Amino acid sequence: MGIVKSKENFSAISLSGGKDSTALMLLMIEKGLPIDSVLYADTTMDFPEMEAHIAKLDDLLFRECGIHITTLRHPHGFEWLMFDEPKVKPSCLEKRARLGIPPFGNGWPGARVRWCTGQLKTLLISKEVNRLKLEKNALHHIGIAADEAHRCKDDPQNRYPLVEWGITEAQALQICYNHGFDWGGLYEIYHRVSCWCCPLQRVGELRNLRHHHPELWARLLELDRRARAQFGPGPLGQFKKNWSVERYDERFAREDANSG
Ligand code: SF4
Repeated sequence: MGIVKSKENFSAISLSGGKDSTALMLLMIEKGLPIDSVLYADTTMDFPEMEAHIAKLDDLLFRECGIHITTLRHPHGFEWLMFDEPKVKPSCLEKRARLGIPPFGNGWPGARVRWCTGQLKTLLISKEVNRLKLEKNALHHIGIAADEAHRCKDDPQNRYPLVEWGITEAQALQICYNHGFDWGGLYEIYHRVSCWCCPLQRVGELRNLRHHHPELWARLLELDRRARAQFGPGPLGQFKKNWSVERYDERFAREDANSG
């Protein structure tokens, strides 16, 4: 699984925008490794700082390699999938009719039903990667850090350069900082930088969101009000088990009041 320097292989990178895939792209540019395509799936729910980060990476990529990032987007986006996607499976329609839930929308994702990861990221990226592998015999470079090596898949067309170079997650972040990429400080606030509306994030991250991104917190409150109105008290309308965003809002406000 050596890094191939020759131009014979079409070379694609999956870019999530996080520290590991960013470090991968920066190092591949620095080492003069070929890059023919950089694929990024936009969930439409990224932090504004992440959008700025992607634009900055795109500038660098164009300057150094003469190509732009290929942005992949679901035709309708997160909110349509959450509230409006029509359901067609008879068993699903029947269950919803029984529970009094409208026959459209997926509601809040949960640990067991992460429809958003599938529809907004994985499916889009894997469809394009598979096409490039098939049509161009592409090598697919994936930003998995050395301390996460168990996530690597055994595919002869996949490459995991950070694992080969022994670069850990902490080192990847430092490499990004050293190259002048700091996400406007996002990683100083949040442990995990993905969709700001993710119900799977930790409570501490939600507390930070309310504090550091009040405009996104206001949008989250609104999304949750809509979800509860449309789907009711079951799992689809529950942001987290037994917790609405409004309840978190009250809890955090109480904590703020008590702390001073
Ligand atoms: S970060 Fe959360 S909301 Fe975004 S795609 Fe992943 S599971 Fe879904």
